[in-house]
Amino acid sequence: MLKAYKYRIYPNKEQQVEIAKTFGCCRFVYNQTLAYRKEKYENGKISVNKIDCNNYCNRELKKAYEWLKEVDKFALTNAIYHMDAAYQKFFQEHAGYPKFKSKHDTHKSYTTNFTNGNIEINFENRKIKLPKLKKVKAKFHRVFYGKIKSATISQVPSGKYYVSILVETEHKEIPHVNCEVGLDLGLKNLCITSDGRKYKNPKTLAKHQRKLAKLQRQLEYKATWNGRKYIKIDTFYASSQLCSVCGYQNADTKNLYVRRWICPKCGTDHDRDVNAAKNILAGGLGQIA
Ligand SMILES: [Zn+2]
Repeated sequence: MLKAYKYRIYPNKEQQVEIAKTFGCCRFVYNQTLAYRKEKYENGKISVNKIDCNNYCNRELKKAYEWLKEVDKFALTNAIYHMDAAYQKFFQEHAGYPKFKSKHDTHKSYTTNFTNGNIEINFENRKIKLPKLKKVKAKFHRVFYGKIKSATISQVPSGKYYVSILVETEHKEIPHVNCEVGLDLGLKNLCITSDGRKYKNPKTLAKHQRKLAKLQRQLEYKATWNGRKYIKIDTFYASSQLCSVCGYQNADTKNLYVRRWICPKCGTDHDRDVNAAKNILAGGLGQIA
C-alpha cells in the first residue's frame, strides 16, 4: 500500500537557491522534450516514447546545456515522465494538448526518487535529508513507518515549501481485541495505565513536556493506524479525585503528595495514579458509548 505524507519544510537560503534551480531545470527539460516530441511527430510522423525523450535529454540536452548536470537527475527524469503522462492523457482522454510550462507558473514542484539512502528522515531532530540539498529543517506533525519511494518538493505561491513523501507500507491490521486501557500521562510517572502498569518518568520538566506531547501524538497515531480508538480526555477531568469504584469525590487528593488513599465511602485502597487511569478509561468509554 502506498501512502503520501506531506510536511512543511524550511530550507535555508542556499537550499532555496538549489530548489529554485531544480524547478527551472525541470521546466526546461519538460518544455524541450515536449518540443522534441512534437517536432518528431509533425516532421516525420515519428512517435517517440518517454524513454526516447529521457535519452534525448541525457545525450543531447545535457551536452548542450551543461548546467542541467548540476541538479538532481531523478528530478529531470520525473519531469519528462510528467510530460509523458500529460501527452498520454491528451491521446487517451482527448484532453488538451500538453502546454509548455511558463516561468510564471504558480505550481512549482519536482519529484526525486529514493535510492541508496539519499532520502532520510530524522523525526527526532526534525530534519529530512534530500538529494543535493542535504539536511533540511522540517515540521513532522505525524510519523510513518515504511519504505520511502519518492519525495516531491513543492513551493506554493505564498512562498512556503513542502515535501510530500511517498511511502510503501506493509500494514496488516492487528486483530481486534476487547480490551481498553486508560492511560494517565502524569507528572510523577510518565505514563500510568488503568491495569496498574507504570512507565518511568523523564529527568527534567522541559524534556518531559516535549516527550509527553510526542507520546500523545504517537499514541493517537498508533491507535488510528491499528484501527483502535484513541480518546483524549481534557486535563480538567477530575480523574485523581474520584474513587473509581464508587464515584466518591475526595478533595484531599488535590494535594499531589497524596500518593495513596483509602476511599472513605467504600474503603477501597487506591494508588493515586492507577485510580486516575481507571477513571480516565471510564471517561473515555463514556464518550464512545
Ligand atoms: Zn469509593
